[in-house]
Amino acid sequence: MTERPDLALKIDVDTHQGLGEGVPRMLDVLRRRGLRASFYVAMGPDNSGKAIRRLFTQRGFAKKMFRSNAVRLYGLRTAMLGTLLPAPAIARSFPDVLRRIVAEGHELGVHGNDHVDWHDHAVGWTVAAAERALTPAIATFEEILGRTPTSFAAPGWQCGETTLAVLERGPFTYHSSTRGTHPYRPRIGATEGKLAEIPTTLPTADELLGEGVDGERLLDALLGEIGTRPLEVLTLHAEVEGGPYLPFFERLLESLAERTRIRRLDEIADEIDPAALPLCSVAQGTRPGRGGTVSCQIP
Ligand SMILES: [Zn+2]
Repeated sequence: MTERPDLALKIDVDTHQGLGEGVPRMLDVLRRRGLRASFYVAMGPDNSGKAIRRLFTQRGFAKKMFRSNAVRLYGLRTAMLGTLLPAPAIARSFPDVLRRIVAEGHELGVHGNDHVDWHDHAVGWTVAAAERALTPAIATFEEILGRTPTSFAAPGWQCGETTLAVLERGPFTYHSSTRGTHPYRPRIGATEGKLAEIPTTLPTADELLGEGVDGERLLDALLGEIGTRPLEVLTLHAEVEGGPYLPFFERLLESLAERTRIRRLDEIADEIDPAALPLCSVAQGTRPGRGGTVSCQIP
């Protein structure tokens, strides 16, 4: 009998609707099961409409759009934010939800300021542009929570040399900004990270949906990926598992609790000595079922 692997539930909150509706539903489920997770919230404006418009205008995205059913996942209103409708502030609209995340024993970290802007441009930013993107997110977090954030997860797993350099200056104690297999210190260009990067190890539900896996097979496909590594990091989305896939979220947690030890990412980070971690390069790569590229650990 092998020991159950640690599994961190990393919940990304990209949108106004995700924080206002998805997060409270997920908190209810987690509370019923007595489980704790790590939430990373995009602190600034919700420009989702721009991202969804991109799905329509980029070649090959329309097919993925229909297969993964983005409008069903994100809703028609979210699909227009920042384009036909003004972009609402995400964190400032729901400060009580942010405080509830913390009050119920979960970790709360920063998931950028403008998710769409970070997703589309971060890898090519100058240091000044990376600072401009991060500073208001940290300020909003401090204003609402009354303390400095300690963890960061890059929107869309987009981590370039300049964003790494700015993240490393603090106030963060670790980050989870790439896809990979095990914790490491990232090296991008001339920048060598000193903090632990704890990458997402598993495919996401929206990627499996993008691959055409749905219904009962979705749970089996995800569970089938677990068990080869001592630490798994699973990224969920408030807009997906806190939205139309809430019943899937419930069944997923039940299955994960039987197979793994579910923990917060900061609990895992606290046990890691970054100096003892391997230094790994990071490069842009593709993931099945996901359009565009993501930043990947090169083992
Ligand atoms: Zn995100």
